[in-house]
Amino acid sequence: MRIESISARPVTLDVNPDIFIQSSLGKHRQSPYVLVTVKTTDGVEGYGEATVMPRWSGETQQSAMAAIENLLAEPLKGVEVCDINEALQIMDNQIHDNQFTKCAIEMAMIDAWGKTLGVPAWKLLGGRRRDPGIALKISIGAFPPDEAARRVMIAKNRGFKACKVKVGIDVKTDLERVAAIREAVGADFPVGVDSNGGWNESEAISALAGLEKLNVNMIEQPLPRWDFRGTARLRERTHIPIMIDEGIFTAAHALQAIREEACDIISIYPGKNGGIRRSIEIAEMAHHAGLECVIGSNLELDLATSAMLQVAVTIPNLSTRVNHDIIGPFYYLDHITTPVIRIEDGRAWVPEGPGLGLALTV
Ligand SMILES: [Mg+2]
Repeated sequence: MRIESISARPVTLDVNPDIFIQSSLGKHRQSPYVLVTVKTTDGVEGYGEATVMPRWSGETQQSAMAAIENLLAEPLKGVEVCDINEALQIMDNQIHDNQFTKCAIEMAMIDAWGKTLGVPAWKLLGGRRRDPGIALKISIGAFPPDEAARRVMIAKNRGFKACKVKVGIDVKTDLERVAAIREAVGADFPVGVDSNGGWNESEAISALAGLEKLNVNMIEQPLPRWDFRGTARLRERTHIPIMIDEGIFTAAHALQAIREEACDIISIYPGKNGGIRRSIEIAEMAHHAGLECVIGSNLELDLATSAMLQVAVTIPNLSTRVNHDIIGPFYYLDHITTPVIRIEDGRAWVPEGPGLGLALTV
């Protein structure tokens, strides 16, 4: 089961206009991503998805295509699909960073490996530690209070049992938005906030009292991605758990955040971390430091969502107090796989089939 060929092609899906995301980073209305196919010498095909967003990781559809076609496909030929460590090493030698691109290839290798053996990917990753249905939270964009409240009620009525709200635009309107959502969903519905690094330290400090009064259950990436020290100082001032997302792409970032005691929770997901294997590595490091992990999202299609679910059922420290963002497929009217990820009653289920458990329909 060696790699015979690796190919990549662009895929672009529109986000459902009724529920698109708007944050301190801008609007996410369309998803120009890349699909990767790894073909083995036995004729098995594995599939991967590069969920590229330039303002997030610096990668684009064009850069991912070019990296795979010009730098990565050729040197990976002949590697066994189970030799993930060797493949990661080859890719790192070819190009720095480009986590989402590397992840797509690793994901396709694991998919092909699982299909070859007839077992789901999580069995190759050490086995499940929990039930296959993972509790989700919906992400509500930085809309005016009434609109944000309307959107969260759509999600609540469709079974979601927790949410996070985009903030980081301006503290006063941020708090008004969170208050409108709290009012709409009631006192017992978990509500977190995600600033996407949109506040500076004094803005974040000024938001704390309001967030505490509104019973917010976590603050995600309150400060810019590089500011671990500021985030650590903020953490000292509140009992609300602080989560780092954009600040932790790699295990080295995670180690630094742990050393600086910058957070209570680390957001992980295969795309951002450069692969399924590396997400698990960060989760295990966080676990030994006493931290929980939440699965974050870049609005994945079903394929990369399956990869997230494989990680979610495998890691030791999946948070039970903050739900997960394994919600990409909920935002699209179209899908690229059969089956599609089952998202129901506020949970997403890891597919049952071999590998990632999905076949492409495009
Ligand atoms: Mg985030």
